[in-house]
Amino acid sequence: MDAILRHPTQAVRIDDVIIGGGAPVVVQSMTNTDTADIGLSVIQVAELARAGSELVRLTVNNDEAAKAIPHIRERLEAQGVFVPLVGDFHYNGHQLLTKHPACAEALAKLRINPGNVGFGRSKDDKFATMIEVAAQYGKAVRIGVNWGSLDQALASKMMDDNGKRPNPKPAEEVTQDALVESAVSSALRAEELGLGRDRIVLSCKVSEVQSLIAVYRKLAKRGDWALHLGLTEAGMGSKGIVASTAAMAVLLQEGIGDTIRVSLTPEPGGARTGEVEVAQQMLQTMGLRAFSPMVTACPGCGRTTSTLFQELAAEIQDYIRQSMPSWRETYTGIETFTLAVMGCVVNGPGESKNANLGISLPGTGEEPSAPVYADGEKLTVLKGGDLGGQFKKLLDDYIESHYQRKN
Ligand code: SF4
Repeated sequence: MDAILRHPTQAVRIDDVIIGGGAPVVVQSMTNTDTADIGLSVIQVAELARAGSELVRLTVNNDEAAKAIPHIRERLEAQGVFVPLVGDFHYNGHQLLTKHPACAEALAKLRINPGNVGFGRSKDDKFATMIEVAAQYGKAVRIGVNWGSLDQALASKMMDDNGKRPNPKPAEEVTQDALVESAVSSALRAEELGLGRDRIVLSCKVSEVQSLIAVYRKLAKRGDWALHLGLTEAGMGSKGIVASTAAMAVLLQEGIGDTIRVSLTPEPGGARTGEVEVAQQMLQTMGLRAFSPMVTACPGCGRTTSTLFQELAAEIQDYIRQSMPSWRETYTGIETFTLAVMGCVVNGPGESKNANLGISLPGTGEEPSAPVYADGEKLTVLKGGDLGGQFKKLLDDYIESHYQRKN
């Protein structure tokens, strides 16, 4: 596979995490708890971090939330969770950050939406205050523009100017230009105020796939700021996953994007960590990062006698998910392990040979046995009941004999 040529960006260091500068694409997420509820927020941040979120954002919308942030930081560290926290600020961010210095201190990064800071002179002053706080405490800032809260004064002016052109652009394109202009002009202002480009990340989120691709292509041409990718309000279930992947995969393939967030609406009662799993799977299936062993499972067809292979694929995936935290702590390089679970012995062995370990289950009319391949060579043929149990034993043996134990 050819390496993807990354759009060159400045590296932004946030504690131990690096965004941009060619560093691996960073996965981040956001809580949906009331930040002021310290107990619940700590539980959710820890869950997101343990699922693999490398930064976690919390809304900081009032005094109670701002007061809670240092306590959330402290309790997480007491549990051994050191994930950098990002504070999401809007209209009153300038007040909260100056009134609650412990909040500014405890955060690793501030997210500022230039469209939600205020209007006219007051907007400039509030924006300047937040940037000065970030510079004072050595914090990174994401200037995060969002189409739903685009700076209306800027958008109106650009629409008016466009109307006076001999060949006006479509309104949608002017809106895209306004999003990019808002992000770039705010970044340049932040730099004038003393924040280095190595402390600035930009984003321009929209909710429509083609617009997101167009906006980020424009944004990447405007400079070398590190870029945060995300389709806002992606939605629920498969719609949200498909829309986010369709948009972000195109941009990532073009080398655009240094950190991603998948904005999924959880199903009622569903885990918030789903957005982290989707982000990881997106990056891993594109060959950009390796987080967890990859399981290739065939879709099944008329050759498949039963749901046996589907059940086994699910059983193995569950086993990997449950074992991964301890495998990751125990073995070096375990994330790159590949596994194939195939539904027949006609086409299954070919795919099995490409994986580190592969099993082909018997299809319709085939002998009731399951050949297993290890690194392209036939290892054994499993027979009898509990194929899942036998295969998991082979899996454990393979990992123990092929991956070095960490101390
Ligand atoms: S591997 Fe076999 S069972 Fe699976 S889809 Fe291909 S032919 Fe069908």
